Order: sequence, then structure tokens, then C-alpha cells
Amino acid sequence: MAKKEALYYSRGDNLSVHCKLCPHNCLIKEGKSGICRVRKNEGGRLYSLNYNKISSLAVDPVEKKPLYHFYPGSKVLSVGTYGCNFSCTFCQNWQISQETPVLREYSAEEIIAAAEKEDIKMIAFTYSEPIVWYEYVKETAELAKKNNIKTVLVSNGFIEKDPLEELIPFIDAANIDLKSFNSSFYKKYCGGSLEPVKNTIKIMAETIHLELTNLIITDLNDSREEIEKITDWIASINKNIPLHLSRYYPANKLKKKSTDPETLKKAYQTAKRKLSYIFLGNINIAGAGDTICSNCGETIINRSGYSIKNLIKNGKCPYCKTAVNGQF
Ligand code: SF4
Repeated sequence: MAKKEALYYSRGDNLSVHCKLCPHNCLIKEGKSGICRVRKNEGGRLYSLNYNKISSLAVDPVEKKPLYHFYPGSKVLSVGTYGCNFSCTFCQNWQISQETPVLREYSAEEIIAAAEKEDIKMIAFTYSEPIVWYEYVKETAELAKKNNIKTVLVSNGFIEKDPLEELIPFIDAANIDLKSFNSSFYKKYCGGSLEPVKNTIKIMAETIHLELTNLIITDLNDSREEIEKITDWIASINKNIPLHLSRYYPANKLKKKSTDPETLKKAYQTAKRKLSYIFLGNINIAGAGDTICSNCGETIINRSGYSIKNLIKNGKCPYCKTAVNGQF
């Protein structure tokens, strides 16, 4: 299939190009690629190298994204490519974010057909970073909309405002990683920055169904002070945004020990003071994956592994009739 010219770039002197897709704003010389490795300057034009290249295609429960308040119990067709605009030392998918895995080509039409064949009504752009797969994600999401298929982004949120706003009309839900509330953490451990991620979260909170994930890493971002800062900020946007506090395991270059379950339980209690819906992920603690009504305190979605018992009726708690944020 023909290579795809990138969106969001300008041409400069001596055949250089200036990519404007993400806040790295790479200035790329002829023959070179940007930080993400998947946008290359060829002859003074910028091309997407991972357009229609698929590293992973699988059917997952939507809870695995994780999305807990978006059609609970639904199946989702998950698609991923390779490349990333971050370089997290703790990346759990580093084989596809930082290396080049085995790839197959699928057109947008073939992805839609694969979903329809399995009678799946939702597609997630996940596993690797969908922002640096922008052209393919947008094209596939537009086609999904025309076929009444919901679309999901699982992303680090590191994207410029203009491309984000052009994509959002074709996206129904997202889970954004809020990795820390400390700018130096983003710089040192992710090769990115915090403020653009906050801007993405603010925009998405007003436009689509949004959930957030915070991977809690031993000694790096697990202090009570940091959990308070993150949850206070989320609450200032919308206290009903579901937050997934996820357990870190050693991966990629980071060798710190796995997060202590007690640290996660404390973080849960700290977050609960300000936010309505908190979940613990990557760990099996009874009740920590349940949705609890923010008003009456009853369990309204019980989760055991990926088995779901959803009691919500017409978007409301069946006991006290309080509305629950999400699509059910
Ligand atoms: S998308 Fe890639 S090439 Fe473009 S600015 Fe971001 S890291 Fe650089």
C-alpha cells in the first residue's frame, strides 16, 4: 500500500520539515525521523511509516483498556501499531513502543470488516501510542462512526490541541495515562512533559467519555502528597471521572520492586476523599474493582476478574437513583 503523507507539518529550509502533531514539535532533516521513529522526512515531505501497519489485533473485554463506565461487559476489537512519542523507562509494552515488531497490513475497511464479522460494536486504538498513528486512527475512526461502531483511544495524551480537536468528533471514549503530577517525572522517566497531557484531559473531559489511569510506581510517584495533588486536580475538572490506580511491576529499564499492595490501598483511600469512582488495577483485591455509588455507598457494578454484574438502571443507581457518570 502507498505510503501516507503525514498531517500536521510544515516545510522548512533545506528540505527540513517541522512536525506539529505532538508537543515535541520535531524539526526533522531530510532522511531522518522524529522522536517517535514513525514519522520520516523523505525529500522534504513528512510520511507516516506506521500507517496501516498492525502489530497486535485482538478481542478484549472493554474493562481491559481499562474502561469501567463505558458499556461494561462489552467486547472491543483492540488494534495497535508501533512507535511512541514517549520513552517511559517503565513501559509495559516496550517491544512495540520502542522496537519494531512483526507487522501486518490492514486497511481501515478491513478493520471495520473484522469487527463486523465478530459482531463487535467497539474498536480501541491501544497497545502502542495511537497519537503517533494519527492518520490511520482518524481514517479508521471516521469509518467506524459511519458504521455505528464506537471508538476508544488508550493514550498518553501528548498531542497538540489542533490535531486533538480534529480527531475528537470521531472518538467516543478514552483512557488517558496521567503518569505523575510532577513535571520533572515526565521529563526524566518519560521523555515528555505534563502540561500538554493536562490540556488533553481538560478537552476530553468536556467532549467524550473519559477515564484516567495512574500507574503507581514504588518510590517515584507513590507519596500521599502526589496522590492528593493528582486527585485534587482531577476533582477540579470533574470529580466523577473514573480513576484507575494501577500497580507497577518491573518492566523495560526500570527495576524497582513491584508496588506494595498497602501503598495502593492507601492511595485508594486518599483518592476517595475527592473522587467518586476509584479502582485498583493490575492487582486482585476484593471490591477494589467495583463501582460504588457516590451517594448511597452501595455496590452498583460488581467485578470479579472480567466477570461483571451491572445493577445500574437507566444510568442511575438502583438504590438511590443518583446518576452515574458513563454509558451503560
Ligand atoms: S509526532 Fe513524532 S515526529 Fe511529530 S512531533 Fe511528535 S515525536 Fe516528533
